[in-house]
This record gives sequence, C-alpha cells and structure tokens, in this order.
Amino acid sequence: MSDPIDFRARAADVYDRVVAWQRDIHAHPEIGFAVERTAGIAAAAMAEAGLVVREGVGQTGVVADLEVPGATRRIAFRADMDALPMDEENDLPHRSTIPGRAHCCGHDAHTAMLMGAATALAAHRDTLGCSLRFIFQPNEEALPGGAPAMIEDGCLDGVDRIFGMHVWPLLDTGRIGVLAGPAMGQPDTWRIVLEGKGGHAATPHETIDPIVGASALVGALQSVVARNVDPLACGVLSVTRIHAGSADNVIPERALLGGTIRSFDRAVGDLLRRRLDELAARIGAAYGLDATVEITRGYPVLVNDAGSCDAAAAALDAFDVVRDPAPTLGGEDFAYYLERVPGAFLFLGNRDEAQGIVHFCHHPRFRVDDAAMRDGLEAWLRLAFAA
Ligand SMILES: [Zn+2]
Ligand SMILES: [Zn+2]
Repeated sequence: MSDPIDFRARAADVYDRVVAWQRDIHAHPEIGFAVERTAGIAAAAMAEAGLVVREGVGQTGVVADLEVPGATRRIAFRADMDALPMDEENDLPHRSTIPGRAHCCGHDAHTAMLMGAATALAAHRDTLGCSLRFIFQPNEEALPGGAPAMIEDGCLDGVDRIFGMHVWPLLDTGRIGVLAGPAMGQPDTWRIVLEGKGGHAATPHETIDPIVGASALVGALQSVVARNVDPLACGVLSVTRIHAGSADNVIPERALLGGTIRSFDRAVGDLLRRRLDELAARIGAAYGLDATVEITRGYPVLVNDAGSCDAAAAALDAFDVVRDPAPTLGGEDFAYYLERVPGAFLFLGNRDEAQGIVHFCHHPRFRVDDAAMRDGLEAWLRLAFAA
C-alpha cells in the first residue's frame, strides 16, 4: 500500500538542516545539565517553526508544543542532548572541539533529528490528527538523570503516549528495533570499603589485612548470580574496581571495591542488593574487617508498552522493523517517562561495516551514520501518525 503522505519527501525537505545541526552540536558537546548552547539551538529552531516553546524545564530542558486544533490526543517525542566526559577518537571534520567531552552516544543526532521532525511536521500541521510535544532533555548520562526534573516541571502533563529513539549499533542501518516489555535494565552502582589494620609487611600477624578479605569477597560475589539467581532470570553483579595499598612493604589499612548490579526484574535487583550487603558484612567479619556498603540505585527498568510497540511497528512498516530484538542491561532514564505514560523506546539501526560504523555507544570511535539520521527523521514523521 502506498503512503497517503510522502514522508520521504517531507524528510528530504529538512534533511540538510538536520545534518548541519548534528555537525554543529557534535563539534560543541555539553555535559549533564550544562547544555545551554544545545538547548538554545533547539529552542530557537522550535520557535522558528512556530511551536509554543518553554525553556528551562527541569533546569535546562526545552519543551515545544505543536497544537493541532480540534485534536483530542497528544503524543510526545523525546530527545536527549548531553554528551559524555571522554575524548573522541574519530577523525571527522566535525569532531569534538572540546577536550574531555564527546558525543559518543549519539545524543547530538537525537536532538538534530527531533528538531528536523518538528520543523517538517509544523509545516504540515493541517494533516496531523493529534497534537505533538517535542521534549529536549539534559543529563541522560548521569544519575539522577534529567527526566525526573522535567516530569516534575510538567513535561508529561496532557500527554497520552510517548516515544523515544536511540541510535543502535547492534542493528544495521535501515532496521528499527521494537521490543515490547522490559527492554533496558536497572544499572545500580555500589562501593564497599573494607577497613582493617595496616602495618609492616614483615609482620602480617600484627595487622588485619584488607587485601586478603577483599580477594575472598570478590570470589564470593561471583557466586551470587550463579547460585542465588533463578537460572531462567538474569542479572549482573560485577566487581569493576579494586583499590588498596601504595607500597610493596606495607599492608594497607583499607581496601575499596566498586562495581555494578544490573537486572530486568525488581525481585532480582532486590536479591542482588541484599546478597551484596550480606556477603560484604559476613566475609568482612570472617576476616576481622569492618565493611561499609553503599549502593546507588540506577534508573528503573525500562518497560515498553505492548500497544505502543504495535502502533509503532505499524507506523514504521516502510522500514525493516525487527520485532523483539535482544534487550540490553544498559540503563536509560526514558524509563521514568514510561512509568507515567504508555509508550515505547525504539532502537534505530546505526551500523554499516563498509563505513567502519561498528562501535557501540560510549566507544571513543562510536559514530552516527548519516543514513541512520535520515531514517530516524522519517521515522519521527511516521510516528506522528501512531496515536
Ligand atoms: Zn550513553
Ligand atoms: Zn544514549
């Protein structure tokens, strides 16, 4: 069946501007909530397109409304704007101009694609069946996330359904992944300090060695997923940091361990946190060490609404839609929106081996495929009709 609306042509009308916006934002990455320049570019484009713009939402977010007279429903589309505190290793003409900051998660493309979609949709608002809201959010990459503050400031008020989209290097460009149910995990971080008694390395009997206790604890923690978690469920408990000692002839006073706990299931998350606590206290005690445990809860599990996934898959049938690709234990603060209103977070294929675009998000050579941006832009235009 041919489309009643020529989405490809409408996307083509704004594509060059999308590429220019992405290049500009990519070259000038901003971190966390301090995304004033990027937010300013988004707000100016939204105002130019004739939308009703609110700035400073959730500190530095932008919300732009496209009102359709007579519409009874409103769909929200969300893009994140923040970069990562890392160096880029791509040799691109528009590579990051700021040392220690880089758009290695594709949020530059998310912002540019959504600006383009809003511009194109505003030019044809008479053909829309529902009102739209465009949400440009800061601080996706760091706890507590940017979504809670934007929700607090009312960005979901009057919204019936919400969609988000992430460039996704696990799918080839041209494909779009739609996964109903739990799609992304809850990523907690944790820190354990084991306090002993330091001393001369020649007299270990006079010390309480935290290194030996820490080693036993690392081994014991590896048994939690293997022995406590239902083998048909899943979870991660990783030790990613150990720090102790400063000299070859000194037994240190304390050891620090750090790591992550991830799960798709609230009960599994509770179990992992409880076992981490118990093992730290009991193994610590067995070695004469005092254990202090600190767990920082990550974003909730991201759960896509089945009805919204069906609506998205139908609206996007011009693409190679992959139903139910593998979920990921990476975290995403879009989960907070989905706790409030039904919707879906979609995976936009961004992989092209011929161009060397194969690195996952957060890799220093992660890169956005221009063809994926064209797809994402067109996907937003189609989703505007997925009410
Ligand atoms: Zn990221
Ligand atoms: Zn991201």
